[in-house]
Amino acid sequence: MIKVEVLAKDGGTKVVNLTRTKAVHERCLNCSAWNAYAVSQCTFTDCPLYPFRTGKGVRGRSAERNKAIVRYCQWCSNSRTPKDCTARLCPLYVYRTGRIDNNVVLERVKSPREFRFSKNMND
Ligand code: SF4
Ligand code: SF4
Repeated sequence: MIKVEVLAKDGGTKVVNLTRTKAVHERCLNCSAWNAYAVSQCTFTDCPLYPFRTGKGVRGRSAERNKAIVRYCQWCSNSRTPKDCTARLCPLYVYRTGRIDNNVVLERVKSPREFRFSKNMND
């Protein structure tokens, strides 16, 4: 999990702990005027983010989610190389190339699962 600054609902910014799952949901909220119900009711089934839009029921599909983000960013930037995007506050920005862009990572954060794992290693 990583900590990054993204666009907030009020037009300002917020610092969030982000995973690809959460980044997609944030982007979908942004796309749907921050209305979670509208995200769940989205009808754009050909959008690459569509299967992952609610952040629920999609565990274990991280490679597919990663590809979906890149495909969405290629469409959004009309480019094979979304790396040139300048919208640093977009929640997908840090994942746009398929790899984490460390230039916008404020901090690496351990997930609860990682905490449990490292604690057991120290026991
Ligand atoms: S799946 Fe695509 S069209 Fe639908 S809310 Fe998400 S970004 Fe928008
Ligand atoms: S990171 Fe850039 S290319 Fe990707 S969705 Fe956001 S604005 Fe579009």
